Amino acid sequence: SITENLTNAIGNITRGKLSEGNIREGMGEVRKALLEADVNYDVAKAFCDRVTEQAVGDKVLKSLKPGEQIVGIVYNELVNLMGPVDHSIAIRRGETSIIMMCGLQGAGKTTTCGKLAKMLMAEGAKPMLVAADLQRPAAIEQLKVIGEQVGVPVYWEEASSSTPVKVCQNAKKAAKQQDCNVIILDTAGRLHIDDSLMKELIQIDNKLMPNQVLLVCDAMTGQDAVNSAKAFNDALELDGVILTKLDGDTRGGAALSVKAVTGVPIKFAGMGEKLDLLEPFHPDRMAQRILGQGDIATLLETAQRHMDADELEAQQKKMLEGKFDLNDFMKAMGQIQKMGSMKSIMKLIPGMGQLSQAMDAMEGMDPDKDIKRVKAMISSMTEDERRNPEKIDRSRRNRIATGSGADPAEINDLLKQFKDMSGMMQQMAGMGMGDRMKAMRE
Ligand code: GDP
Ligand code: MG
Repeated sequence: SITENLTNAIGNITRGKLSEGNIREGMGEVRKALLEADVNYDVAKAFCDRVTEQAVGDKVLKSLKPGEQIVGIVYNELVNLMGPVDHSIAIRRGETSIIMMCGLQGAGKTTTCGKLAKMLMAEGAKPMLVAADLQRPAAIEQLKVIGEQVGVPVYWEEASSSTPVKVCQNAKKAAKQQDCNVIILDTAGRLHIDDSLMKELIQIDNKLMPNQVLLVCDAMTGQDAVNSAKAFNDALELDGVILTKLDGDTRGGAALSVKAVTGVPIKFAGMGEKLDLLEPFHPDRMAQRILGQGDIATLLETAQRHMDADELEAQQKKMLEGKFDLNDFMKAMGQIQKMGSMKSIMKLIPGMGQLSQAMDAMEGMDPDKDIKRVKAMISSMTEDERRNPEKIDRSRRNRIATGSGADPAEINDLLKQFKDMSGMMQQMAGMGMGDRMKAMRE
C-alpha cells in the first residue's frame, strides 16, 4: 500500500546517516512509492523535487532532528498537493441554486446526489433531485428510490418524450412551486468520455448556468479518474471534485493528483455506499492517513455520530477511576462495531494503520467476525474474571477456552487486546470525547 511503501522509503532516508547524496537517493524510493500508488508521473516528480530541495538544505541537515524535519516537509508538501479546499456550496438566497453533477458511468453520481441532498438538508436547505440522466431508464428509478430514502422530492419526466435540458428547466420551475431552494442535477455518464456526452453536458451548463459544477470521480480508478477530471474541466470549468469510494482499497493516486493536474480541489469524499457517508475532504487528514499517522479528528467525528454519549461517558468515568473491566470492554466493542467495520476504524487510529494492513495480509481474517468471537470468550468468563482479568491464570484460561470453543492462545490475545483497548479508550477520554458529545447533544 502507499502508506507502507512511503513510510518505508522515508524510514530508509531518515534511519541512515543524513547527507545530500543519501537524501537524493532515498527520494528515488519515495517517487517509486508514489508512482506505484498511481500518482501522475509529473506530479510525483515535481513533488519529490520540492521535498528534496528543502531537505538537503543546511537548515535541515544541521538541525537537531533532521529525520523529523524531513517527515514534516513530506507532510506539508502532501497537504499542499491536495489543498487548499473550500467546502462551501454557495446557496443563493431568494433564488433557486443549481448544482450540476457530472462524471463517468459508475463513478457514483446518483448515489452522491442523494448524499449531497442529505448534507444540504442538515444545513437547512431544501433540495430537490433532478433526473437528467435519460440514457438509461433505470437511472430515473434509482434516483426516485434515493430521493425517497433521503426524504427529498425528485423531479423526472418520461425519457422518451423529453430531453435533459428540458427536464432541468422544468425542474427549476417545479422547485419554485414546491419551495425548494436547491436543485441537484443527476446527469448522464458514459463509460468513456465522448463528444455526445460532453455536448449534452455543455448544453445543460449553458442553459441552466449552475452555481456549482461538481465532478464525481471514482478513487479506485486512479489516473483514469484524473484524466477524466482534466477532460471534464476543459469542457465545463469544474468548481470541485467529489472523490468517491475512498473507503475501498484505493491506492491514493487520484486523491494526490487531481488538484495538481487540474487545479480543481476535491471538496468532498464518499466513504461508503450508505447515504450518510459523504465527508468534507481534508487534505491534512488525508496526508496523515497516507503517512500512517492515523486520523483522530475523523475518528472523533465518526464516534460522535454513532456512539452513545452517556454510555461513553460512563465508560470514561470508570476508566479514569481504574474500573474499566472486560464487561465494559464488551460494551465498547459493541459501540465500535456501530461505528463501522473494525478495519476502516483501525486505519484512523495512529499506529493502528500498520495493524490493519497486517490483517489484510492474513487471508481469511475478518475483524468483525473476531468481535463475535471475543464476545463468546468473554461470555464464558465468570463475573469475577471479567472484573479482574489479571486473575485469569493458566487453568482459568483453559476453562474459558473450552467453554467458548476457543484456543487458549486466543484468550491470551484477547487479554492483550483488552489492555491495548484500555489504552485507546484512555486516549479518547483524554481528549474529552464524552464531554464533547454531551455538549453537542445539549
Ligand atoms: P453513477 O453511474 O455515476 O450514477 O453511479 P452510482 O451512483 O449508480 O454508483 C455506482 C456504484 O458505486 C453503486 O453500487 C454505489 O453504491 C457505489 N458507490 C457510490 N459511492 C460510493 C462510495 O463512496 N463508496 C463505495 N464503496 N461505493 C460507492
Ligand atoms: Mg447514475
